[in-house]
Amino acid sequence: MTKVYFASARAKKWKYDASMPGKLDRLLKEIGLMDYFSPEEWIAVKTHFGSEGAHRIIRPVFLRKVVDSLRRIGAKPFVTDTVRIKGLDYLEIANQNGINHLSVGAPVVLADGLYGNDNVMVKAGDILGQIAVASLIHDVPAMVVCSHVKGHINAGYAGALKNLAMGGISSSHRTCGWKCGRGAMHTIGEGELVWDADKCELCLQCEEVCPLDAITFKDDEIVWNRDICWRCGRCERVCQTGVLQLPGDDERFMRSLAEAAKAVISTFEPLKIIYINFLTEIQPECDCMPSADVPVMQDAGILISGDLVAIEQASIDLLLQAGPLEQSLAADRKIQKGDDILMKLHGKPYQIQVTEAERLGLGSRKYELIEV
Ligand code: SF4
Ligand code: SF4
Repeated sequence: MTKVYFASARAKKWKYDASMPGKLDRLLKEIGLMDYFSPEEWIAVKTHFGSEGAHRIIRPVFLRKVVDSLRRIGAKPFVTDTVRIKGLDYLEIANQNGINHLSVGAPVVLADGLYGNDNVMVKAGDILGQIAVASLIHDVPAMVVCSHVKGHINAGYAGALKNLAMGGISSSHRTCGWKCGRGAMHTIGEGELVWDADKCELCLQCEEVCPLDAITFKDDEIVWNRDICWRCGRCERVCQTGVLQLPGDDERFMRSLAEAAKAVISTFEPLKIIYINFLTEIQPECDCMPSADVPVMQDAGILISGDLVAIEQASIDLLLQAGPLEQSLAADRKIQKGDDILMKLHGKPYQIQVTEAERLGLGSRKYELIEV
C-alpha cells in the first residue's frame, strides 16, 4: 500500500512543532526529498495564484516551507502556475495575494508564458487525443504539486488531479486555440452556449465574470464569441436564473481530467513528483473564481505522498468524514453531517476522476495513512 503522510490542522500545543507550518516541515522530512530530487535540480513548485477576489489560496508561508526544504537539499525551486487571465495581470494577482520572490523565497514565473500559449502538444488519450501542456512543466525535470483542495464548478472536487489537468495545461494553443487547451476538457471541445432570451434578467453577471470578454450584450441580446471562449463555465455558474448553460458530459469530463493529468506527468521520470494536498479553507468553488465564499468544511490538514491517486483518495476520504460548517453554503443547502458535501453542492460524479486515474496507471487507491 502507498504511504500518505498526514498532519492534522489542529494545533493543540503552543509551540512551532504543533503549528501547520511546523507540521509541513515534518511532512517534508518524512517523505524524504532526497529520494526524489537531486542537488542543483530545477524543481517546479506548482500552485494556484488565485484571483483578485479569491484569496483563499495556499498561503505563501506554506510555499515558503516547501521552497526552503528544497533549497536545503541543494535543489533550485521556482513557484509557478499557468495563465488564467492575461499573464502580466496574473503576476500582479499573485503578488497581491502574497506570492512573490520575497515571500516564497524563489522566482515566481508563468508556466506557459505571458500570453498563455507557450506549450507543447503531448499525447493524452482516447478522449482528448493531444493536449497543450505548459512548456515549462513539460521541460522541467521535477515538480512538487501543491494543491488547494476545494469544490469546483465542473470537477465537483478539485485536488491534485485537477491542479495537474487544468493547471498544467495552457488555456490556448497558437494554432488550434482553446480546442487543445484547457477548454478541451471543460466541455470536451464541443460545447455551445445555450441562452434563453425570454428568461434572462439582463443582470450582466455573465459578462462581468468572463475572463476573456467572450460575452457581451447588444440590444438586450447575448453575443458570444465561441472562437475565443475557453468553456471555463464561469458564466454558467454565476447565472442565478439558470438561463445560460454550457452543456457537457460530466462522466467524460472527469475521465478527461485523468487523461490530461496523465499527459502532464508523462514527461517526468518515475519518482520525480511529490504531491502536497492542503485541506484548508475548503471553499465551494475554485480559486480562479472572482470571489471566495466562506469554507464549507473545517480545515482538516495537509497530506503528502509520491502517489497521485493515493493522495486524492485519502483527501476525499477525509472530506467525506467532515461535517458542514454553520453559516456556509453547505448550511444554506441544508447539508447534513454524513452527507457527501461536495456532491451535494455540485452534483458532479467527482470520484470518477480518481477511479479513472487509477485505471490509467497513475497510482493506487489503496493507501496507508500515517499521521505525523
Ligand atoms: S465559458 Fe463563459 S466565462 Fe468562460 S470564457 Fe466562455 S464565455 Fe467566458
Ligand atoms: S447571468 Fe444569466 S440572467 Fe444574468 S445576464 Fe447573464 S444570462 Fe442573463
